[in-house]
Amino acid sequence: MNLILQHDLNDLENILEKTKQQGIDFLNNLENVPTSNKNSIDYTRELNELGLGSLATLEEFNERLAPLMVASPGPRYWGFVTGGSTPASIVGDWLASVYDQNTQAIKGQGGASALIEFETINLLLQLLGLPDSFLGGFVTGATMSNFTCLGVARQWFGNQLGKDFAKNGIFETINILSATPHSSSIKSLAMLGIGSNNFTTVKTAEGNREAIDIVDLEENIKNLNGKPFILISSAGTVNTADFDDFEAISKLKAKYNFWWHIDAAFGGFAAVSDKYKHLVEGWEGADSITIDCHKWLNVPYESAFYLIKKEHTSLQIETFQNSNAPYLGNPLENFNYLNVLPENSRRLRALPVWFSLLAYGKEGFCDIVENSTSLAMHFGNELIEEGNFELLAPIRLNNVCFTLKGNHNQEKVSEFLTLLNDKGKVFMTPTVYQNRKGIRASFVNWRTNETDIEVVIGEMKETLNAL
Ligand SMILES: *Cc1c(COP(=O)(O)O)cnc(C)c1O
Repeated sequence: MNLILQHDLNDLENILEKTKQQGIDFLNNLENVPTSNKNSIDYTRELNELGLGSLATLEEFNERLAPLMVASPGPRYWGFVTGGSTPASIVGDWLASVYDQNTQAIKGQGGASALIEFETINLLLQLLGLPDSFLGGFVTGATMSNFTCLGVARQWFGNQLGKDFAKNGIFETINILSATPHSSSIKSLAMLGIGSNNFTTVKTAEGNREAIDIVDLEENIKNLNGKPFILISSAGTVNTADFDDFEAISKLKAKYNFWWHIDAAFGGFAAVSDKYKHLVEGWEGADSITIDCHKWLNVPYESAFYLIKKEHTSLQIETFQNSNAPYLGNPLENFNYLNVLPENSRRLRALPVWFSLLAYGKEGFCDIVENSTSLAMHFGNELIEEGNFELLAPIRLNNVCFTLKGNHNQEKVSEFLTLLNDKGKVFMTPTVYQNRKGIRASFVNWRTNETDIEVVIGEMKETLNAL
């Protein structure tokens, strides 16, 4: 064995102890870590001939890389839709590295972790009140989940025409309808060879909505003259957390032949609260659903899952099977995750979620969701009371989409946001909503509380004065 490796092996306990202490120090100080900084590195560092060993490398990390880190798992990182990490999720994440299992088959190699993944998906279905008619699996994020679901939808579309796109490629126009798809679904259309331009935009509903207009949807369906199509719908749009009307879509599904996909990356968690679950009523009728865990479930990156109806499993295998590898077994005889999703080897990605679900239960996640939504409301009220801001849309769940009051202030919005973010106490992201420049604040972090809202409103007042 290489001497440095041998030394690290002998010193394992000390190395992990120091790493643990560093983790504790960072997490306990998260409130004070800035949400942005201007630190940088010269990334042309030369690779050393002789290894430094873990502890000296940790020292270099602390000197050069740790100063780059921002408080993105902290309570005032409201940009994008950014969750933190609960204690139990970190335990699961650390142990996933320690046990270092590959998640594949139920029988044979990788069996233990595939069983854990089955159990975790089953627990998630219970959390979300969904039936076990879905087969689920873990991928890195909602982007890959959308990709997986739409990949199977593509195969389904071909199947309707008697074609096998996975085997022979795509020689048909695939009909896709959507109103306000997330950019990652459009990116998936590009990756799947469908083409990011090749979807039809359905109107959004009247009255400052991002949800699909059901009447216009049916008009578009009728224009297809009975041809199959794929519907990409939303449970929680990123600007205004709007939801399509799933009960109305269910009724259309009984009348027309289409694959129904729901991107519920963060909005799916509305299902855990009695106050908000009406937003997803009827979603169990979908063919596929995307949900992120590294957002509202507050587990570390990279964690998301897809749910695809079991009736489509053979199409899913056609799409993702390793068909020229006899050593991997027959995909139809022995269930193996590497034949139903994009990756082959994967870490034990279910474990952080498994730990979180057992540690906090249904009530824990209901509390996180209801706390986030009440903080969003509270922040919205404070903005209005302050006088210099206006909401661009009503607050439906956990996202606040707002701007500086008055059209004459439109050109100041990005300067305001840059100044505010540079102060390092809060981080929000810009957007454009209905042709107006705006700012988004998204509440999903389990740590955020009322004091954070006060701190941020104070910072925003100071920033206005500095404009
Ligand atoms: C965040 C998000 C995505 C993309 O998720 P990643 O985890 O970044 O891949 C897709 N759809 C919606 C609605 C989202 O909010």
